Amino acid sequence: MMPWLGEEEARAAADAVLSGWVAQGPRVAAFERAFAERVGAEHGIAVSSCTAALHLALVALGLGPGDEVVVPSLSFIATANAVRYVGARPVFADVEGATGNLTTATVDAVRTPRTKAVLVVHQGGVPADVDALRAACADWDVPLVEDAACAIGSTVGGKSVGHGALIAAWSFHPRKVITTGEGGMVTTDDARWAERLRRLREHGMNASAAQRHASSKPILESYLEVGYNYRMTDIQAAVGLVQLGKLDEMVARRRALAARYEALLHNVPGLTPVRDPAHGQGNFQSYWVLPAEDFPVSRDGLLAALAAAGISARRGIMASHLEPAYEGHPSAPLPVTERISRDSLILPLFHTMTEAQQDRVVAVLREQARR
Ligand SMILES: *Cc1c(COP(=O)(O)O)cnc(C)c1O
Repeated sequence: MMPWLGEEEARAAADAVLSGWVAQGPRVAAFERAFAERVGAEHGIAVSSCTAALHLALVALGLGPGDEVVVPSLSFIATANAVRYVGARPVFADVEGATGNLTTATVDAVRTPRTKAVLVVHQGGVPADVDALRAACADWDVPLVEDAACAIGSTVGGKSVGHGALIAAWSFHPRKVITTGEGGMVTTDDARWAERLRRLREHGMNASAAQRHASSKPILESYLEVGYNYRMTDIQAAVGLVQLGKLDEMVARRRALAARYEALLHNVPGLTPVRDPAHGQGNFQSYWVLPAEDFPVSRDGLLAALAAAGISARRGIMASHLEPAYEGHPSAPLPVTERISRDSLILPLFHTMTEAQQDRVVAVLREQARR
């Protein structure tokens, strides 16, 4: 993943600097409005990262010690860590092979009476089947939180991921489709949660610096609860506004490159590429392929062959439960998670990628498939 940044973002950042307002201010407010509108949510609360967004979402839900939150192990480790931040226990569920996402069946398999939330990830931008998950969570009477770090521009049933979500967390890290350097967002339709989230991101303060600045009368702030410093800067938001304006173009380009990869890989036996599920369309933030069990070369062998040809591919998505940070953490068997994490690889796919570059990647894979 290579961010697609240019003169326009540079000028927007420079304008923010020259305006004299560099911390959270009018550009953050504008970015929040534009982002929430784009994903079909009532409220957007910009924060410093998706990790911070996940943390605040779980605080807003009132989760704490003694509570269990069902999460996929197959995710960037921040998903599970956010549960630990509030003192609750992540319970790892397996994923389905085709999408790399939780399903109602994999969640149901690990659910207990202590399950107080389900945290679903739209992995690599492949939309999870949220209609089915929302219905199941309503039956179980547990809230569904969406880790949409990877999913800006992905859709479910023709609508943006995030539309109709109880609460969703987003990332603007450079490895995601749009970037602000570092940054994140919480979206929700709930006005009371939105108000509390705005407060929690700045030390629990009842009035923001921007509100105090705009007021003609002096506002004496007070601190209503213990909060955090999870603010985004106006410099970041200025970049984010420009990136958001390019989102449709970026997603269209990624989907075209993914379709071309799929056509080319059709002639490489034993490699299954990630595809759109029946219920939605992905942004192909991560374009992964899963080699068959009897593929002649190991995943690491494939990565080495690509590296020798000057192509930088990456290992597939990590399995959090296998990391030292989760050693001794009890977990049900997660065979699909372990297979995808062990054997899949993520192919290069970036906005300015040429057909010749794509052909070279596939040529190396085809050569390895014949060994
Ligand atoms: C990248 C990512 C995160 C963390 O995002 P940051 O903005 O870097 O904190 C969380 N969850 C998933 C699924 C991710 O891919």
